[in-house]
Amino acid sequence: MTERTLSIIKPDAVAKGVIGKIIDCFAENGLKIAAMKMIHMSKREAEGFYAVHKERPFFASLTDFMISGPAVIMVLSGENAISKNRELMGATNPAEAAEGTLRKRFATDIEKNAVHGSDAPETARTEISYFFPELEIVNE
Ligand code: ADP
Ligand code: MG
Repeated sequence: MTERTLSIIKPDAVAKGVIGKIIDCFAENGLKIAAMKMIHMSKREAEGFYAVHKERPFFASLTDFMISGPAVIMVLSGENAISKNRELMGATNPAEAAEGTLRKRFATDIEKNAVHGSDAPETARTEISYFFPELEIVNE
């Protein structure tokens, strides 16, 4: 089934200059870019995006990290895009991420972990509409 998922190249990976390598990985694995933009989030925008984590001890630090520089926000589409992207990303903690995954290759630590990916169809819909109106997403 063709799905859409939200991907973010987080500020650490943008600063490391690996946007192209990450996008190559998606292209090589059958995920197409249906929307893309680079933004420097405000604290409010980062807090809204990660609202589900607001009670977690790392919330303040995580949202500070997400506003530390620009991030690339994308809608990826493809066969089982949600789980495919999560596979390519690897575990949240790069120390536990499988060899060859984006987090193993590019993350710094459990917080500065290079990429975000939606974890389920419902969160994908919510996260995509948080950043993109339907008019800015291509259907091909
Ligand atoms: P994932 O991004 O793999 O879905 P979570 O949804 O659990 O992981 O967490 C969201 C983000 O919060 C992570 O990608 C990471 O940037 C940060 N994070 C998660 N756990 C921790 C932690 N224990 N300490 C610091 N930051 C964390
Ligand atoms: Mg998550």
